[in-house]
Amino acid sequence: MIVMKFGGSSVASAERIRYMADIVKTQLDKSPVLVLSAMGDTTDYLLEAADRAFKKGEVSVDRVEALHLSTIKGLKLGAAPERALRPLFDELTSLLTGISLIRELTGRTKDYLVSFGERLSVRIAASYLESRGIKARAFDAWELGFVSDSNFTQAELLKTSWEKIPQHILPLIRAGTLPVVTGFIAKDAKGNITTLGRGGSDLSATMIAASCKAEEVQVWKDVDGILSADPRLVKNARPVDVVTYEAAAELAYFGAQVLHPRAMQPCMKTGVPVLVKNSYNPEAPGTRIVQSLGKKASPIQAITSRKNVTLVDIASTRMLGQYGFLAEVFSCFAKYGISVDMVATSEVSVSLTLDAAHDLRELKKDISRIARVDIKAGKAIVTIIGDVRRSSEILARSFNTCEILGVQVQMVSQGASKVNISFIVNDAEAADVVKSLHADFFE
Ligand code: ASP
Ligand code: MG
Repeated sequence: MIVMKFGGSSVASAERIRYMADIVKTQLDKSPVLVLSAMGDTTDYLLEAADRAFKKGEVSVDRVEALHLSTIKGLKLGAAPERALRPLFDELTSLLTGISLIRELTGRTKDYLVSFGERLSVRIAASYLESRGIKARAFDAWELGFVSDSNFTQAELLKTSWEKIPQHILPLIRAGTLPVVTGFIAKDAKGNITTLGRGGSDLSATMIAASCKAEEVQVWKDVDGILSADPRLVKNARPVDVVTYEAAAELAYFGAQVLHPRAMQPCMKTGVPVLVKNSYNPEAPGTRIVQSLGKKASPIQAITSRKNVTLVDIASTRMLGQYGFLAEVFSCFAKYGISVDMVATSEVSVSLTLDAAHDLRELKKDISRIARVDIKAGKAIVTIIGDVRRSSEILARSFNTCEILGVQVQMVSQGASKVNISFIVNDAEAADVVKSLHADFFE
């Protein structure tokens, strides 16, 4: 058995759905389970509709209805699917009406509302696959054992899902059915609809694969895989052949919009490989995500950067060996609700980085009681995702590159994660550093 996940752009129109079916058809012998996102930007449309109902009292599902109905037409599915979807459109309209009257929009209501996107897309896709002679059947994830906590808009799947999902899915597979399952959504123990966070269909797919011990998860996107750098920055960025789960998770946190940050977790537990493929270019090999890399792998897999970072240097004014200094510093940050990204410490000082969007005046006053504080805005974090066991080689080459560019590295962090080496440079230098590092390591 394999799991094939198609994201929003891969099911965005009748044409894309036909294309998806072509891809699925070539792999029917592997007993696929399909996991789908909402069509195109449906999730955004639904959230906008909710906002309009909430703020202006307007109720309209026209845009969502038009997209799905025209897709049914485009796929020449006749009148039955439209009849089947009608109750969902009606329910959606009632829900928006409710929001417009009560003028209340909680996380719980939002999740209920966006769930319609995935529920519509699987129904259309399943009828289309059926029309092509495949024994497909649409399922809402909760029918197949997806149980989550009640942390609406960011729910986590409960342990019991690990047992329940295979109990539901394996018999379907044995019976020769192709389940077409909603990504992104679940229900909590009380029966409320929840979502796993934006982009959460990836997690739905890896969860099915890991709990059912599938051979592989294919994540079909609109890019050729995980790229070695941001293509807007580096012209020669190219898809990476293979990365580890850890590196993929790290990249997701650093904003490479390829996979949901938590999607790797189920795979890490069980070792199911993930293959990221491009549904617009199925011949491209894609990126394989696995437990560990072979000896011959290149030392680094990707380079990312984040601009608009603030560097804070804090030097204790007390004596050496003073205990509790770091605790005091960090409790100040906690007090103002400011989350710290990178940290480097010495005996009497600590440097750390923050997102720029904070007012630091009060905090500075507070910390100044015990330390000298120096705040430097306009910095960037350059992050190298690679094998930290080869850090000497990576650092030597990186610093050499910086030296050639005349760039001073202002802080370094390595070792906290096995795949991430990060350093701070000036904002204005970041693009050149990333380009040169890319040229050195990849070109
Ligand atoms: N449809 C949801 C979103 O747009 C989930 C997903 O695509 O994975 O965030
Ligand atoms: Mg989407």
